[in-house]
Amino acid sequence: MSLPSFEGSPRWSQPAEPYARFPKITLHDHLDGSLRPETLVELADAHGVTLPYTDPETMASWFTGEIAVPTIQHWDEKFGLTTRVMQDEESIVRVAREWVLEAAADGVLYGETRWAPEKHTLGGLPLRVAVEAVAAGLAEGEAAVAAAGGSIRARQLICGMRTSTLSYEIARLTVDTYGEWGGSVAGFDLAGGEDGFPMRHHLEATTLLQNEGIPYTIHTGEADGEHSVWETVHLAHALRLGHGVRIIEDVFLDGRPLGVKTAVRAVEAARAAGPAVLELGRTAQWVVDRRIPLEVCVTSNAGGVVDGIENHPIDLLRELGFTVTVNPDNRVMSKTSISAEMRKIEGEFGWGPQEFAEAELAAVEASFQSRQERDALRDTVLDLLDDFER
Ligand SMILES: [Zn+2]
Repeated sequence: MSLPSFEGSPRWSQPAEPYARFPKITLHDHLDGSLRPETLVELADAHGVTLPYTDPETMASWFTGEIAVPTIQHWDEKFGLTTRVMQDEESIVRVAREWVLEAAADGVLYGETRWAPEKHTLGGLPLRVAVEAVAAGLAEGEAAVAAAGGSIRARQLICGMRTSTLSYEIARLTVDTYGEWGGSVAGFDLAGGEDGFPMRHHLEATTLLQNEGIPYTIHTGEADGEHSVWETVHLAHALRLGHGVRIIEDVFLDGRPLGVKTAVRAVEAARAAGPAVLELGRTAQWVVDRRIPLEVCVTSNAGGVVDGIENHPIDLLRELGFTVTVNPDNRVMSKTSISAEMRKIEGEFGWGPQEFAEAELAAVEASFQSRQERDALRDTVLDLLDDFER
């Protein structure tokens, strides 16, 4: 069994990606952070939206920050531009369909894309209609991949925003649409600025989801530290942690807490000097013991959470027993793909097929699918791993 080839390579991958043919799951993958730059330019043109640049490649480089002008006040303004061109059903369907095609080209067998319906109502689109449009686009994408001889299942996670007061309404929307359109809606996420917008302000939303039996993940441990993860785990009881990497700040090196930006170097230096003792704090131990998966996005984190991939704690987290999955976060904003993430992690930390297989099987288990669906997907992934050759 081999991975069905589909439409060449995804954006932002190199010609000979070592992990292009590796079976993949994507769990943390924003719809409005991953649209094709040429689609953005075309839709902006069609809807009279002014972009800083009209050349797709230049736009992409502005998203990553390689081109700094024009400057913006806050990173969220970049998502303001991508969501501006997704205010009508047709545009949303197109972006969702293309998300599936890009994922399939990257070797993804199962993917969950997340997006925030409340950002798509500027033109008066009802929230439920927006969700239905994403469902239609994902289904079209699945059908196109199948017609080309491939296979992918694509689901959506509906995001509430930490920065808004609508999280309960959006959780209610998730409950109301869960199970519709062939089960397109797989669960819920809380996204948006973490620092200053604590999880505890959104417990009405997560309590509703718990009571209704809807799975959810929460962005946490990205722009804020251990106490934010503590709230996510112990107050909100999230099934997965979106990023979650700052849980490393609840790990103690010779009795002192690590900092996310300096953890890798501090541990290396301590080990070079002699035996180093690493101990988990209670929140970190809880996350390890319950195997609560971390949705790690290395390139995305390398531009702020840490300075450069070499300082990312992904390998340290794995060594400490955390359940780590590999995700792109925002393909266009980070100019990345999962294949590219794997190449970078291999280059920096020496991971190989065995470590990536562990991460992908962890992602299968972490996916918001039924037990039966996860078992079937795991069998497919194991078959493909058997045959994996570079
Ligand atoms: Zn994210």
